[in-house]
Parts: sequence; structure tokens; C-alpha cells
Amino acid sequence: MTENSGSKSDVPDLIPARMLSEFAYCPRLCYVEWIDGDFVDSEDTVDGRFQHRRVDSKEDSIPREEFENVHARSLFLSGPKVGITCRIDLLEGDGERVTPVDYKRGEAPDIPGGAYEPDRVQLCAQGLVLKENDFQCDKGIIYFVRSKKRVQIPFDTTLTQRTKDLISDLRKIAEKREMPPPLQDSPKCNRCSLAGICLPDEVNLLKEMEAKGGSEKGLLGKIRRLLPSRDDAMPVYVIGHGHTVRKKGDILEIWSRDDGKVKEARLREISQVNLYGGVDISTPAVIDLMQRGIPVLHFTRGGWFQGISTGHTHKNVELRMKQFEWAMDRKRSLSVACAVVAGKIKNCRTQIRRNDSEQPKQVLETLDKLSREAKNASSTEKLLGIEGAAAEVYFGRLNGLLKSENEFSFENRNRRPPKDPVNAVLSYLYAVLAKEMFVTLLAVGFDPYLGFYHRPRYGRPALALDMMEEFRPVIADTVMLSLFNKRELSDKDFIQTGIGISLTSKAKKKVIAGYELRMDAEIAHPLFGYTVSYRRILEVQARLLSRVLFGEIKEYPAFNRR
Ligand code: SF4
Repeated sequence: MTENSGSKSDVPDLIPARMLSEFAYCPRLCYVEWIDGDFVDSEDTVDGRFQHRRVDSKEDSIPREEFENVHARSLFLSGPKVGITCRIDLLEGDGERVTPVDYKRGEAPDIPGGAYEPDRVQLCAQGLVLKENDFQCDKGIIYFVRSKKRVQIPFDTTLTQRTKDLISDLRKIAEKREMPPPLQDSPKCNRCSLAGICLPDEVNLLKEMEAKGGSEKGLLGKIRRLLPSRDDAMPVYVIGHGHTVRKKGDILEIWSRDDGKVKEARLREISQVNLYGGVDISTPAVIDLMQRGIPVLHFTRGGWFQGISTGHTHKNVELRMKQFEWAMDRKRSLSVACAVVAGKIKNCRTQIRRNDSEQPKQVLETLDKLSREAKNASSTEKLLGIEGAAAEVYFGRLNGLLKSENEFSFENRNRRPPKDPVNAVLSYLYAVLAKEMFVTLLAVGFDPYLGFYHRPRYGRPALALDMMEEFRPVIADTVMLSLFNKRELSDKDFIQTGIGISLTSKAKKKVIAGYELRMDAEIAHPLFGYTVSYRRILEVQARLLSRVLFGEIKEYPAFNRR
């Protein structure tokens, strides 16, 4: 078994020493990385790998004057009795008396003991493994690369006992399959690459709010900024027959049959590739994208989401098991369904309150009432009825949000196929939003096909449809209103097809551009206060849902614009 291995269905026999170090730093960090299999690189981890390259290299890159009597480098060892596996950067010594040397990036800290506890524990665990393998070992060395300093760590009784206690505690937590709670207001989270997955402040806030009966009084302002607030990588859209996507080195190229190369993008700057209608993609491009974890999404010309090409799916089996457990339980499914529908109705109300110049009192009151009813609906059937009633009220008012001088109007919501330009744009945007939610859920570790409100049907991404409910008004409807009200769409952008209306290729590009602008826009999060893009908010919501399924927070907190 290697340092990073670990079965997802059983507790691995041996704990990697590196994980023990993570556990000493933060039990939750270790759980997320080791049990859930989630890992995100940070500046520290990238730099750490770079510094390790020297010691891992067989080349003569080690400062020899500082390391006499080198026994071995990058040595993998296991100690079944102590329950640890480890990779020792460097082993010094003569005969059977050895000293493990662990490389650490950065400066040696000026603290008693000369090194932080997680580093000392990791080294001591290596010492225990060496002893089990018949070496004599009573101390280790931590070599701090930046300050070029060797710090000697004696394996005394206190450190050895602490290391053994941590091994036993970690094993218990792994067996229980219970994620430890986030640290409270800890400076450790500031440097933690998993903060965006763990959401320590957000989860702590929601737990405190639940303990206070839902009140957020005195609690806000405690949340640290979510970083990054927006994704650096962006989606690529290729629309239209006659286009081919290829890869050349680290660049993705888009070729047109008529015009040659029309666009290119660096692979590391791409988050997803969306192909609409008859676009070819080369096998090397697909394989590289898969290896980088960049999904390729396939759509019909009309925007119907047909499927996805991805690499190995997320390894978090625990989450999918929980999802199936909840989906099979009517009461628990209903609680999530009620929260998302209530959230959606609230956002419909906000849309009208913010943009309807007449401020229709009756409509606002009705939506407020329906939102509260949705929150407490006693069955899925009742919830469906409430949602239908709210949709009638909201869409009945949507025309008032289109500027009156506009050449387009909206009577009611119709689809498959849409009968008018406004509905055509809405349908197109809802499909794009559904795929966005699909990709987000997949990345977090969910099965997007198994929902809590939308019932399973072959090929239907039910959970993606559930989770996009609250975002329909704030993302899709808002983009539609903006495109029409700013006159970015005209009659020429639509084609009458006999059975309905569809968008021209040019119009689709305009709609996608409007959508992407919205997804990348940063807003102040209504509950957590920090500035964050809509795309990141989608991910935060999916992660909060996962915390609900694991019982960390009781109720799914829908995203509601104020
Ligand atoms: S963000 Fe904080 S609580 Fe969460 S895993 Fe990292 S260190 Fe632990």
C-alpha cells in the first residue's frame, strides 16, 4: 500500500504517516482528504511538491555536506503492527541505527521543540515503522529547505505516546465514518486548501443559527472570505456544425471547416467544454481533458443536454451512499424539496419586488405566503401544487418586467417547443443552467440523476433539476430580462419552425455570453456576506447540501437574494 492509497468502502489497514500529520493539524482536513478523497492544491502544496523533487530525485541534488551516510531516499515502508505506512524522504545512519530525515518547505519555526506538532508526529510515526522493521531509531531530523536548517526531533515518551494516541483516534473516526466538525474561528483555516470544500465558517454559522432557532442575530460578520471568490478557469462553448476541437500541446484549438482555426485556449484555463450540435472533437483532446478533470458536455443543436464525457468520477462513495439513503426516505427527501421550492418562490418574489415598477402588492403577498407554505408542505403532491400556483402568479407578472416599449412580450410559460421568443430564450437558459448544476454536483461527488423532488426517470438529471430551482429566477430569468430589455436580441435572432420558435446560432451565442457574464458576476452573498461569483455559489450550495445529508446541519439553506 502506498502513502496515498485508501479504500473508500473500508477503513484502510494502514494509515499514511502524512495523513497522521494532517489529523494532528485538523481532524476534519484529514477526513476530507483521506476518507472522502477530496484534495485541492494550494500554493503550499505545490511548493512542497517542488521542494520534494530534489530529495525524490536520484540525481545529485541533495546538499551532500549536510547528509552524510545516506542509506536511502524516498523509502516506502510499512508497519502493520503500529498501523502506519510511510515514505521516508531520506534515511541516514550506519548499520541498523538510523535517523529518518523529513523535508519541509519554508523556514524553521522559532518555537519550543523546533517544529510544529503535525511535523513531529509524522516523523515519530516514521520512527515507529522503522523500529517495527528492526532498525534502531530514537530520533529524526526535519530539514527546513528555505532556512537550510536541520532540526533534531527526539522520539521521547511524550511524543511517542501522542503519536500512538493520534493513530488510535484517527482509526476510530475512520471506522465511524463521521466527519469531525470544522475548527472554530481557527487561523489554521486561512492557509487550508480545503476551506472551499470544508466551509468551516459557513457550517459553524448555520449550526449556530439552527441552535438559535434560525436567527442570524449577532452571528454575521464572523465569516471569512471564500477564496477564490470566482473560478479562474472558464467554460468553452463551441456552437454549430462544421467545427472541430483539437489539442496541440497545452492548447485547445477550435477549427471551422470554412475559416480554419477560429479560436484557441490554454487547457489549464478551461473549466468545461460545451459542444452544441455536430461538433467534432479529437480523441487526444478528449483524453487530455479527461485526465485534467475537465468535462466535455454534448448538446443537440437546440440546446438539449445529451451527455457528458468525463474521466473517473468523484471517489466520494460515502456521499453517494448518503444521497441514495435520503432519496429512498420520503420524509427526508421532502425536507430538501420543500427548502428548494420555498427558496425558488422567494427568489421569484424578489425578482418582482426589485424589477416591477408597479410593485404589485397582491402578487408579492401571495408569493410570500406560498413560499412559507412550500417550506412546510406535508407531501410532494402538495408541494407540486404550491409550486404550480406560485409559477402561475410569477409568470403572470413576468411581462411587466419586460420594458413596455420592447417588441417582445410574454403571456405564459410554454415549452417543448417554445412558442415565442421569450419562452425560447428561457428554455435555452434553463437547459444551460441544468448542465451547470449537473457538472457542479458531479464535481462535489453527487449522482446528478437521483433527486429529492424531481423523481427518477431514465436520463433525467433529477438532482440537477432540484438544485437549480432556486437559481432559475436569479440567473436564467434575469439574463433573459437583461437581453431583451437591453435590446441585445431582435426579431432576426429567432426562427419560426412551424411547431415553435428557435434561436439562430448568433442568438445562442448572445444568450451564452449573457449567461456567462451573470455566472462570473460577483455579488455579496446574502447570508455569508462575502463577495463571490454565482458559479461559486452553485458549488457552495451543493456542498451545503452534502453537509445536510451527513447531518452536520439540519436544514438545507436555499440561496435567497435579498
Ligand atoms: S478549513 Fe479549517 S476546519 Fe476545514 S479542514 Fe481546513 S483547517 Fe480544518
